[in-house]
Amino acid sequence: MVNDIINILLNLDIKDILATEEVWKKYKDPFRLLITIIISIRVREEKTIEVSERLFSKYRAIEDIKNSSIDEIRDTIKDIGLFNQKAKWIKYIAEVWDYNKICDEEFIRSLPGVGRKVANLYLSVVCNKDYIAVDTHVHRILNRLGIINTRNHEETEKELYKILDKSYWKLINFKLVRFGRNICKPRDPKCEICPLNNYCKYYKNINNKEKNK
Ligand code: SF4
Repeated sequence: MVNDIINILLNLDIKDILATEEVWKKYKDPFRLLITIIISIRVREEKTIEVSERLFSKYRAIEDIKNSSIDEIRDTIKDIGLFNQKAKWIKYIAEVWDYNKICDEEFIRSLPGVGRKVANLYLSVVCNKDYIAVDTHVHRILNRLGIINTRNHEETEKELYKILDKSYWKLINFKLVRFGRNICKPRDPKCEICPLNNYCKYYKNINNKEKNK
């Protein structure tokens, strides 16, 4: 049943541009992708694309970032959340970046600003590694559906490795982000038009409450 639900999700064709997918398709540059994923932390997709483009138009090579100051990088990205922290991370990553280590997990996971979700997303996209990138959409949607019952992203990731067919691991993030932005939104999910409402625990609970009023 879990894999049936995931299959339906994976077959949904929701047109929506996602920053990291877009940047990877367009530039195929691991450094640029990693920095864009970091920019995207707690930032909307549209804003992530805008700020990533701005940063890489100003700094066309990694050397340019290395030669820049943290203050200057901060000014370039100051309209996004955590800009102070992100400017320091970007500068540090540029200083140690090594294209011979783009799929060296230990190196990637040791970089500042690279938590589990960032690393998993990067490694699955750039290195084709079987990881599940759990973000707020993945966590919220699968708990609402009742596929899992977890308290945080770490628990969600562990649970998904147990119950999900491996062939879905790399695909699930982008699909659920699109689904979460357009249908199963954090507030006011569009349950009436959702192709999964027959399976959904959250929807059943809402209907039961309505009936019992
Ligand atoms: Fe989300 Fe509603 Fe669909 Fe359930 S029925 S997955 S809560 S949109």
